[in-house]
Amino acid sequence: MDVVDLPLPGGCLCGAIRYRLNAAPLLVYACHCHDCQTRSGSAFALTVVVRTADLEIAGEPEVARMTSPSGRELDHSFCPECRVRVLVRAVAAPDYASLRAGTFDDASWAVPIAQLYVESAIPWAIIPGADAVAAENLDFYALGEAWRASAPRFQAR
Ligand SMILES: [Zn+2]
Ligand SMILES: [Zn+2]
Repeated sequence: MDVVDLPLPGGCLCGAIRYRLNAAPLLVYACHCHDCQTRSGSAFALTVVVRTADLEIAGEPEVARMTSPSGRELDHSFCPECRVRVLVRAVAAPDYASLRAGTFDDASWAVPIAQLYVESAIPWAIIPGADAVAAENLDFYALGEAWRASAPRFQAR
């Protein structure tokens, strides 16, 4: 996949919350922490980091504040109808938002460049080719640069 059309649409399961990402995402990574496993009901979470300003949301998500395993306060936005969590924002960094790759209508471009909490991964689910990064050493800016260097080209339709 060399070129991905913008905007990128997505949303919750029932359609009450829809979003449009109007510019290229910044970073895609996987997280094997137990919270992500529990929340996703699967082996890991696949997270897409975007600029909040690039995101248009239709509908009224419900927001719940929770603390992440690394100690950050996060605002989780849920669909009030189907309860799918569409969006997360760190209280300390409201200019950035995290979306779950699976909420995009098409996430075939979402290849993770890194994986966190590999020590709690279900062994078969460790992703070949994605660097294992310790959460305390996480440098979103450097990782984002590396991801964008290997990502497809995102362009407005
Ligand atoms: Zn919904
Ligand atoms: Zn996690």
